[in-house]
Amino acid sequence: MPHSIHIVGGGLAGSEAAWQAASAGARVILHEMRPVRGTEAHQTEGLAELVCSNSFRSDDAENNAVGLLHEEMRRAGSLVMASADAHRLPAGGALAVDRHGFSAAVTKALEDHPNIEIRREEITGLPPADWASVIVATGPLTSPALAEAVRELSGEESLSFFDAIAPIVHHESIDFDVCWMQSRYDKGDGADYINCPMNEAQYRAFIAALMAGDKTEFKEWETSTPYFEGCLPIEVMASRGEETLRFGPMKPVGLQDPRSSARPYAVVQLRQDNALGTLWNMVGFQTKLKHGEQTRIFRMIPGLENAQFARLGGLHRNTFLNSPRLLDGVLRMKARPQMRFAGQVTGVEGYVESAAIGLLAGRFAAAETRGEAPAPPPGTTALGALLHHITAGADEKTFQPMNVNFGLFPDLPPQPRIRGKDRKKAMSARALADLDQWLGTARAAAE
Ligand SMILES: Cc1cc2nc3c(=O)[nH]c(=O)nc-3n(C[C@H](O)[C@H](O)[C@H](O)COP(=O)(O)OP(=O)(O)OC[C@H]3O[C@@H](n4cnc5c(N)ncnc54)[C@H](O)[C@@H]3O)c2cc1C
Repeated sequence: MPHSIHIVGGGLAGSEAAWQAASAGARVILHEMRPVRGTEAHQTEGLAELVCSNSFRSDDAENNAVGLLHEEMRRAGSLVMASADAHRLPAGGALAVDRHGFSAAVTKALEDHPNIEIRREEITGLPPADWASVIVATGPLTSPALAEAVRELSGEESLSFFDAIAPIVHHESIDFDVCWMQSRYDKGDGADYINCPMNEAQYRAFIAALMAGDKTEFKEWETSTPYFEGCLPIEVMASRGEETLRFGPMKPVGLQDPRSSARPYAVVQLRQDNALGTLWNMVGFQTKLKHGEQTRIFRMIPGLENAQFARLGGLHRNTFLNSPRLLDGVLRMKARPQMRFAGQVTGVEGYVESAAIGLLAGRFAAAETRGEAPAPPPGTTALGALLHHITAGADEKTFQPMNVNFGLFPDLPPQPRIRGKDRKKAMSARALADLDQWLGTARAAAE
């Protein structure tokens, strides 16, 4: 008889993984620690509890990458998406849900499934050796005992810390009539960074805006987790003195603006964030400014006036793996292949992305119980692009949690040349066609 799949954590990812694996015929044991032990953010004992907002973001599958991910998940038989659709609330183009109805629907579907057993218990260490297939989906608030055991196994210095996230900008939205490529003192390849120059007046106006900007307050439990001096929020640094940033992340030394042949007064640098070169990270710009304020204030930076942000900055406790280093292409830990990871703990960001990685982990584990090699979805799909980013495409040295966005997708062929909004439409159409083919092949293999 094939072995059971043990899933640790019944959040967004673990619930979806359980559903996918059980629907594919595998036997599943789902271990969820609530209500025996709680987390700092969860408030109920329901599976797939939404800890904060009730939004799954845009539902526009033609023009928005998260909307496309919704559609791909629906086509793959997602329980999370079916439950969200059944408990949808009016929210314009976004998919917002009644959180209690949503969580209750997921819980009931899993409880009623004949292949699934739910155990309410905390897993406090590495799974026992006789669990032949495990999916760890314990989320950003993974309980400390398990986090510590995984940290020891992975050899990472730290797994759980204040997640200081800097914004990421789409390359195509940066104005290269203003910005230029150069590494400080021409180190490395000499042109590794994008530089946005500021004169003195621009710098002073920018600092004033940072100081006045509306910030997110710390939750009580967040105040007990220290953040590193090395990654202070940019507005905290600015509050230490008007010149602090000019001697920190915005220092202009070793750089020369080719237009003026002079050193600017201050510089904002962006570092490449993915192998495709479509996404660029604002160096040292981790922030707790509210999202609307970030967009307004960071567009004051010369060259970023029309910046489109693939991700905005933020700060909260987050436990996640350095997946590009530790996981293989089908989410198995290289050092212990019977153990897979799924959800936010793999370094994706958001409810939908977490569930999406759960969906893949469940399918991969089920394929293995049938004695098949799991086949990842094509990189042209939203599922495949996200999976590829966390397991291979992202730079392991700067790896930070990531939302799905079109910057993760391989570019369209150069001909015919497609521009603007039509590019997103074309990428979405390509994604859905490739997904259908992948689902068809997977279905045929299972039959
Ligand atoms: C405070 C906070 C606010 C967030 N707000 C949003 C938001 O508004 N929108 C958004 O899209 N994303 C948000 N996120 C990010 C993320 O999308 C969610 O955390 C999402 O729930 C992640 O899904 P997951 O399945 O990976 O983890 P979770 O949904 O957290 O599920 C993990 C589950 O594992 C259980 N567990 C943990 N350790 C163990 C153990 N040792 N044994 C057994 N069970 C265990 C937990 O009880 C939990 O049920 C937020 C994250 C945090 C921390």
